[in-house]
Amino acid sequence: MTVVGHLINGQMTTESTRTQDVYNPSTGEVSKQVALASQATVEDAITAAQAAYPAWRNTPAIKRARVMFKFKDLLEQNVDKICALIGEEHGKISHDAAGELQRGIENVEYACCAPELLKGEHSKNVAPNIDSWSEFQPLGVVAGITPFNFPAMVPLWMYPMAIVCGNCFILKPSERDPSSTLFIASLLKEAGLPDGVMNVVNGDKEAVDTLLNDERIKAVSFVGSTPIAEYIYSTASTNGKRCQALGGAKNHAIVMPDADMDNAVAQLLGAAFGSSGERCMALSVAVAVGDAAADSLVSKMQEAMKSLKIGPCHDAGNDFGPVITQQHQQKVFGYIDSAEQQGATIVVDGRNPNIDGYENGFYVGGTLIDRVTPDMESYNAEIFGPVLQVMRVDTMQAAMDLIDNHEYGNGTCIFTRDGEAARYFSDHIQVGMVGINIPLPVPVAYHSFGGWKRSLFGDLHAYGPDAVRFYTKRKTITQRWPSAGVREGAQFSMPTMS
Ligand code: NAD
Repeated sequence: MTVVGHLINGQMTTESTRTQDVYNPSTGEVSKQVALASQATVEDAITAAQAAYPAWRNTPAIKRARVMFKFKDLLEQNVDKICALIGEEHGKISHDAAGELQRGIENVEYACCAPELLKGEHSKNVAPNIDSWSEFQPLGVVAGITPFNFPAMVPLWMYPMAIVCGNCFILKPSERDPSSTLFIASLLKEAGLPDGVMNVVNGDKEAVDTLLNDERIKAVSFVGSTPIAEYIYSTASTNGKRCQALGGAKNHAIVMPDADMDNAVAQLLGAAFGSSGERCMALSVAVAVGDAAADSLVSKMQEAMKSLKIGPCHDAGNDFGPVITQQHQQKVFGYIDSAEQQGATIVVDGRNPNIDGYENGFYVGGTLIDRVTPDMESYNAEIFGPVLQVMRVDTMQAAMDLIDNHEYGNGTCIFTRDGEAARYFSDHIQVGMVGINIPLPVPVAYHSFGGWKRSLFGDLHAYGPDAVRFYTKRKTITQRWPSAGVREGAQFSMPTMS
């Protein structure tokens, strides 16, 4: 059986004493094994990255950017192969995989702007004959740890910008769907990247802990669930590393009484069930303002859900595929059970999906639950499945209070025709990414991505301009040349321009 290994110093290796099964979620079969890196393997990767760093740091930014131009071309030439790899291990339908890859490629395009983005700031004559400037220097060897749900896009949020800023990179992808991530990284060699600048180690907690504890790693970017994000952030910070750790989510959409309900239902359908709800920006809660809006939303959604097509990843006619593992499938079923037991109404029940010919796949049917209340387990947890819950409130303020009181603050959206209400909402809501009649307000590559509250630990958001700041450290230089004829004696008071 194929073993998915590591990319260290430009070489593929499967060296490992431990492996783990990789499933094809569409069929439920084990399709590959993934090597789980030991501490020694991760340390080899760090050593290779450190050796590559001095030359890469001194490579002109325009030459580093040229590697990214070629990388973008190679990604575009390999779209079908990459989408097939994503589908086989994640279960994502090809049109959805192509969307995630395109979003990743846009981050590579932004990284091509490095020479412009790394330009410093210069001030002449801050005092007579004294000039001062700030420049942005790379950190050294930095690491990324990524989740299963975007095996192409999320790693591409990180390493193109980190590398183009002059750093060397160690990526630890999700062990559940490692192949597309490893294949994409392998294209960098063909794009002209020197060996050792980019390394991939597959693995689990042992690999992650090695990265967190090795003093040669200067910064860690993490994307995954909130408990692990918190662990990564506290451990990395204690060890003196710069860290950004993006966590889980519970994204609410407010449906106002004046909303274009047919449009809201169509938008919610895609945003709740696309990718089987396994997106950190999935809209998983619709908060209807007023019973009339709630009744209309529920009946139209119930009708719309009759057309949902669920099935294996290779059939592009499907709207969404399976969830990642059988264990996760059972967890999602458990949340639906708990909502029912706690008094919610199961309007559309996805607990018995019948996918002809794929009975062992990890499918969950689209599920609609009405009359969900804040005390319910299914409301407080991130379900991460194709489950839309409807809550009923009397006022927009009550809807906003619900959102603000939730522990997560990743994304949110309001469906309304009222510009004043939308403006108030976007100004005051305690959430990092806000949509106005836009269900998935995922920022484009030249803005930055990040939630608030327990959806992000750290100060800087992912990709976009924040990534340039995250992967560089500012140095400010002040210079005078005494040979210009101006000499001063010793000065004991704080230098000023007074
Ligand atoms: P996860 O937290 O289980 O795993 C993420 C990474 O952490 C993986 O590489 C995994 O190997 C590693 N990991 C897991 N357990 C660990 C441990 N005990 N110690 C050290 N490392 C560990 O997340 P997942 O299930 O792969 O991904 C889904 C989660 O990611 C969801 O919560 C989703 O909301 C979140 N997510 C967030 C964003 C965002 O931008 N905020 C984006 C995508 C996914």
